[in-house]
Amino acid sequence: MANGTIDASKLTTTLTTTPKTIPALDKLSFGKNFTDHMLLIRYNEETGWQAPEIKPYGPLEIDPAAFVLNYSVEAFEGMKAFRSADGTINLFRPEKNMQRLSTSSQRIMLPEFDHEQLLQCIKELVKVDERFVPNEYGYSLYIRPNFIGTEPNLNLQYSREALLYVYLSPVGPYFPRTVRLLANSKEARAWPGGVGNYKLGGNYAPAMRPAMEAVKEGFDQILWLLGDDLYITEVGTMNFFIFWDNEDGDRELVTAPLDGVILPGVTRDSLLELARKWGEFKVSERRVTMPEMIKALEEGRLVEAFGAGTACVVCSIEDVSYEGKVYKIPVDPNNPKAVFGPLAKRLHAELLDIQYGRVASPWLVPV
Ligand code: PMP
Repeated sequence: MANGTIDASKLTTTLTTTPKTIPALDKLSFGKNFTDHMLLIRYNEETGWQAPEIKPYGPLEIDPAAFVLNYSVEAFEGMKAFRSADGTINLFRPEKNMQRLSTSSQRIMLPEFDHEQLLQCIKELVKVDERFVPNEYGYSLYIRPNFIGTEPNLNLQYSREALLYVYLSPVGPYFPRTVRLLANSKEARAWPGGVGNYKLGGNYAPAMRPAMEAVKEGFDQILWLLGDDLYITEVGTMNFFIFWDNEDGDRELVTAPLDGVILPGVTRDSLLELARKWGEFKVSERRVTMPEMIKALEEGRLVEAFGAGTACVVCSIEDVSYEGKVYKIPVDPNNPKAVFGPLAKRLHAELLDIQYGRVASPWLVPV
């Protein structure tokens, strides 16, 4: 199906004549401020990938009958650019996001693209809007690639035209705080044979109502429990981690395996690698169920639990409400006001040190 490939050397740039004022850092709210430019790359099955364009940020023109508007043919990504103390701008493991976008989009019959060439174009976009990358520690530039089927055709086959576009949003630090979860076993975010392991827009819309119902009841996020055995899959839109003394008496960090119902988080992968490198405790990818977590809690074996994702890096869980009962999760036994458990805090600090170039790492890719 793929025809030609993205060619970053053909990139053209049209600069805005009305540059925006850089938003004040204390006024940033997630995903509401956008930079001056966006990247657009069109695909047509007949002619292949067209020359990439950087243009002033603005509305897209799209046919009402486009695949994306009818059948949700859309995949997306979320990644960040960070400014180090010396002023250089870096991306964090961007090839992981390219790979995930490719896997997601191929599930909905969008064409394959050259990862390195797309990344090259994204770096150009970040360079063009470089002045929007905040230079405060904790702040960053969120990068949102979207890939949509644009062919106007109601015939349910696949979209022979597509648009890959990328835009940027300066974002503030995620103010660390613990989260309160409502366990949900009645609705599923993802299921075996489904598409929860792909980052498709169609996965997110149906999760909104349960999430908002939880918020209305005073919770922050949902703890997604799947199937009769109440398998703990994810926390809202974060991967789930539990740190405990397992039934064999081993100290162990566990997250769900990439079994088809789990989104393969870049943060998840990074935390696993960091913890494995320390070699101080067992690190496992295996299923943990709600009854196992409750048992560990009751037996005093649960040390910490947290969610992990690009937005917050790690987010400690304070309690989980399940079937009307609130289960208090330990955060830091030595500090009742702690916003991180000790392990969450250490992982958070190590990852931020890498992202802001305080520690050299191959995970950091200069733009
Ligand atoms: N799970 C879901 C459902 C998500 O949407 C995200 C955010 N992409 C994550 C986990 C965390 O992934 P990452 O660490 O790549 O941000």
